[in-house]
Amino acid sequence: METKAITRKSLFALALAGFMTFADSAIAWPKGSISSLPHSSTKRVAWTVDDGASAAALGRYVKMLEENPDVKITFFVLSGAPGWTKYATRLKALQDGGQIQLANHTQTHRSLTKLSDAQIKQELNRCEAFCLKKYGVSSKPYFRPPYGEIDGRVIKVAASIGFTKPMLWYGSFASGSGVSSSSVLKSATKWIANGRIVIDHANSNATPNVFPQILNVFKSRKLKLVTLHEAFETTPQ
Ligand SMILES: [Zn+2]
Repeated sequence: METKAITRKSLFALALAGFMTFADSAIAWPKGSISSLPHSSTKRVAWTVDDGASAAALGRYVKMLEENPDVKITFFVLSGAPGWTKYATRLKALQDGGQIQLANHTQTHRSLTKLSDAQIKQELNRCEAFCLKKYGVSSKPYFRPPYGEIDGRVIKVAASIGFTKPMLWYGSFASGSGVSSSSVLKSATKWIANGRIVIDHANSNATPNVFPQILNVFKSRKLKLVTLHEAFETTPQ
């Protein structure tokens, strides 16, 4: 069965969704959700970047990573967005060098809480198949539910096919197409801290336009950037 292609219209809606992502940390995630890193004696933070609805923006993340080998990012891949194919060779090199990790953000970005058990599995499995085919590495066990919409049923169904780590966040850059770079920098400055999982979106140039300033926030706070595999001591499969 063919997956319905992500249309230009839905990508636009997605870019807006990035803008609407909660900037507040006080989100009551359901039991079993993960929104912070395990305790460590090392001061560290996980920069997680979702979607890739803008291939051009994703390309700027790739270039920034190539120029800054100390920067690590976990990407939550929306496999229906074309940037993950367009930049696959360069992203794979970054992945194979341990600088980035690719995790699962589904195939078409539907709200998982509104889908049947079989549809939830299909959304995750299609993204997983894409990651294996293009990058040669599994996205398991990490997934992030689109829009942060998750409940006990989604957690259980995902775990049944190997996605045992439902990753939410503690602090958002609130990045999207309708937002200014100064607003992104303000949110990043507010939320970047030890032990946090912060969320960002490669859906516009709002974040890329302030990369130097954001990198300086991590540096000035003496925070080591880590992938989720490193922080949770899991091994890429
Ligand atoms: Zn998303």
